[in-house]
Amino acid sequence: MNKKIALAIHGGAGTILRSLMTPELEAEYRSGLENALRTGLEILEKGGSSMDAVEMTVCSLEDFHLFNAGRGSVFTHDGKNEMDACIMNGRTLKAGAVAFVKNVKNPIRLARLVEQRTEHVLLAGEGANQFAVQMNVEMADDAYFFTQHRYEQLLRAREEGVVQLDHTADEPEILDGAAAVQQAFDPRSTTSESKSLGTVGAVACDINGNLAAATSTGGMTNKKFGRIGDTPLIGLGNYADNATCAVSCTGHGEYFMRAVTAFDVAARMRYKGIPLVQAAKESIDYLTSIGGEGGLIAVDSQGNITMPFNSEGMYRGRITETEMAVDIYK
Ligand code: ASP
Repeated sequence: MNKKIALAIHGGAGTILRSLMTPELEAEYRSGLENALRTGLEILEKGGSSMDAVEMTVCSLEDFHLFNAGRGSVFTHDGKNEMDACIMNGRTLKAGAVAFVKNVKNPIRLARLVEQRTEHVLLAGEGANQFAVQMNVEMADDAYFFTQHRYEQLLRAREEGVVQLDHTADEPEILDGAAAVQQAFDPRSTTSESKSLGTVGAVACDINGNLAAATSTGGMTNKKFGRIGDTPLIGLGNYADNATCAVSCTGHGEYFMRAVTAFDVAARMRYKGIPLVQAAKESIDYLTSIGGEGGLIAVDSQGNITMPFNSEGMYRGRITETEMAVDIYK
């Protein structure tokens, strides 16, 4: 039995610069992260499972208006909030995910129900929403998801015509699209409250050495055509296996999808026999080499935590029985 419980969280990575942050806003971000950490720690300290800990921790982050998940989700091109979430159990390798869901207050709760109550792994769109109704999960009206800064972010993105990766007919257009997305993530092109890529995640190791990972997101501002990112896809934005590690990613999803980042960390540990910290660093180096921006949090069954990223900052926190730390910048 492992005695070392551990929990790590993120609230998104991106161009998060101290010079662009006000003390009030920073304090608000920090308290959102600390509340989430406490929620998860309480469960783990009582001997609760890593699955319960990551689910409830992510619920707390989804309820916090500044992160791009649940309540604070960004707007699509059509002014809607379409959310993705995924949870994975490292002991059983069972996973549950939802993509493209609307008006579900806590998408991670719905993802957990997919894992617990269905024989499937991923439900999307209308069907996922029907499942939400059947499971009687808490729904919220559009007003709950409306945040002024997100809406302004959309208006600006629409005006500038950014996030156009869908028009990828030839190479120059792909590059234009990538540059446009990059710009959309730049805090200097948005209001002060929307300074990051967003997305939230949690990874945990419980007292029995069982691992779990959970990730939830509103995706990308001004996304179109039913775009789904890395978050709800097993092994891309989220992965857990007791034999190696639990991983939750955040960043420009299309690159994490091409790099299969979450599974890449676990695979490096499994195939190369290297420790968590080295494996995660190699995965982020690879992501960097193909032009991807973002980071990840990961934990192994000994309770070791690592949180590498290649962006200017990543909202992140870690907690064990002996330490609690919250960080934002590099
Ligand atoms: N990875 C998420 C996506 O591409 C975005 C993020 O992490 O901020 O949907």
